[in-house]
Amino acid sequence: MAERDFTGGLTDRAAELRASPEALEPLLRAPEARLMAARGGDPLLFGEALAWTPLAPEILALAAEPPTLMGRTESGAPRFALDLTGVEEVPPALAAPAPAGAAAAFAPLREAATKIAPEDLALAGCARSLFLWRNDTRHCARCGGAMKSSSGGWRRDCQACGHQSFPRTDPVVIMLVERGERCLLARRTGGALWASVLAGFVEPGETVEEAVRREVAEESGQRVGRVSYVASQPWPFGGQLMIGCLAESLGDAPLKLELEELRDGVWATRAEVARAIAGRGYLQIPPSFSIAHKLLKLWSEGRIGFR
Ligand SMILES: [Zn+2]
Repeated sequence: MAERDFTGGLTDRAAELRASPEALEPLLRAPEARLMAARGGDPLLFGEALAWTPLAPEILALAAEPPTLMGRTESGAPRFALDLTGVEEVPPALAAPAPAGAAAAFAPLREAATKIAPEDLALAGCARSLFLWRNDTRHCARCGGAMKSSSGGWRRDCQACGHQSFPRTDPVVIMLVERGERCLLARRTGGALWASVLAGFVEPGETVEEAVRREVAEESGQRVGRVSYVASQPWPFGGQLMIGCLAESLGDAPLKLELEELRDGVWATRAEVARAIAGRGYLQIPPSFSIAHKLLKLWSEGRIGFR
């Protein structure tokens, strides 16, 4: 079964059609075409489902930019996303297609992540990352000139110097550190109450394995031996690609937490992690749509581990 974790979006992104108005035109007019709308990255829901609406002219007129082609479904139906950042209320034209009894409302993506269909969540996450990048790329990084969307909204071009900017994805390593029968969980300073695995940005010139070893040493004072890749996840709250790994702690050095980032840490057993996943026990862990949760679940079930 597909998981509700921002993965499993459209496999056909139809990237070759984005840049061509002639190729886009029939897709925009196709009767089976649908669009999702988002405001500041928060998707419009009808009740507890992502709102897919027809591409009616009165809906398209609500946005500053044309709809962005996200791809095609397995049956070939085009799927678009519309950025309504800046609108306050849900416009009547958008609410009109809602099924009877289903309220039309923009929902924070974290909230939508617990409700909407897995494949819709992947698309809503993709749209959020894309729109945030677009709204953050108003001026050219080289000359400060005004940027304008091109390639169907998947590129920004400087109107002064021609510099092209593409949607960015920042790689982040996120690793479950294992020592014998236990794994390391730590709580972030000033962050959520839950305890999670360690994570950090990959720096220029680093491999994934090097980033894992450096981050674990910096944040917890542990030396890491083996590193293995487990899974990855797009994380639309900051436009990151989370690269989930398992890391082996060597030796028995005491925890030395980087206190600017972490306030406390614990070596937890599989049973303790399993209780936290079940919502019991003393540990609180990140929500089910996060890769941290997935790593912890796989480890607690004995499906990943060096031993
Ligand atoms: Zn420029």
